Amino acid sequence: MIFCYGGADKIYFFKEGCERYMRYCEKCVMPDTKPDLKFGEDGVCGACESFSKRQAIDWSAREREFREILERYRSKDGSNWDCIVPVSGGKDSTYQTVRMLQFGMNPLCVTATTCDLSDVGRKNIENIKSLGVDYMEFSPNKAIRRKLNRIGLTQVGDISWPEHCGIFTIPVRAAVQYKVPLIVWGENSQNEYGGPAAAAENNVLTRRWLEEFGGLLGLRVTDLIGLDGIEGKHLIPYSYPSDEDLRQTGVTGIFLGYYLPWDGYSNALIAQANGFTTLSTTVEGSVVNYENLDNYQTGIHDYFKYLKFGFGRATDIACLHLRRGASLAGTPSK
Ligand SMILES: [Zn+2]
Repeated sequence: MIFCYGGADKIYFFKEGCERYMRYCEKCVMPDTKPDLKFGEDGVCGACESFSKRQAIDWSAREREFREILERYRSKDGSNWDCIVPVSGGKDSTYQTVRMLQFGMNPLCVTATTCDLSDVGRKNIENIKSLGVDYMEFSPNKAIRRKLNRIGLTQVGDISWPEHCGIFTIPVRAAVQYKVPLIVWGENSQNEYGGPAAAAENNVLTRRWLEEFGGLLGLRVTDLIGLDGIEGKHLIPYSYPSDEDLRQTGVTGIFLGYYLPWDGYSNALIAQANGFTTLSTTVEGSVVNYENLDNYQTGIHDYFKYLKFGFGRATDIACLHLRRGASLAGTPSK
């Protein structure tokens, strides 16, 4: 048997009998092949470690802080939107939109279309629109997108590379275009801070921060020019605005998951209570029916993740549930 182990921009291949074995977290079922996941001396992974720290967080203080930031950026005379909320056809997007409306915000929801939007994804987008928000959907050139899917798959083993890129660049472009400085993202995977908007000074985003935040597996957008007939003009949706443009609007961002306890399963339940539709069966390669259901290519993405790192989406979900002490369960299908 041959299995692969991938770093950020490399894929290593090992044969059976070699000395490199996968090590699993003592608390969850995550192997140490997951990129950027650190393990402590006690054999517990960084994600479990940071989850256990959540018990000590004063969530009401965080919510107060959150409300202050929203107040600071809210359009005082109602002449513009209060914030940009990047959304897809997923459960977290529905949850984010519901929460922002509960906080009295007037968001502009922005979708960077997935690579191959599923029917249920479309249905959930239509549902977000009906929640009572202004909404815009940006669909990059599909002929170029197909080329980028192929390049992503063959060069970094990720067919969804252009999607992962666009979900970070397109809402930032919208922030500049419509002069709405605050972007409210969902989960902060590092879970360490509230986002640049929380800083009293120097909180304007730079391209450098954005490029680090939206990790692109070592494949840079500029590397694509000249491949398969792709020109710079084809890559506008996948490129960040200039630092000068970001500064002029004062674009900044915040992570909802830092201020409100973030849990995919309860997000799914809240989303469902607000019209979100799940699949009638589990999502391909997963063990639940409520996430990653808005892109038909998800199965390919997850399969290659398994080839590269030796674990799939089911492992991710199992870890989330194990940390919360819950049993594996889907939500009732609708
Ligand atoms: Zn763990």
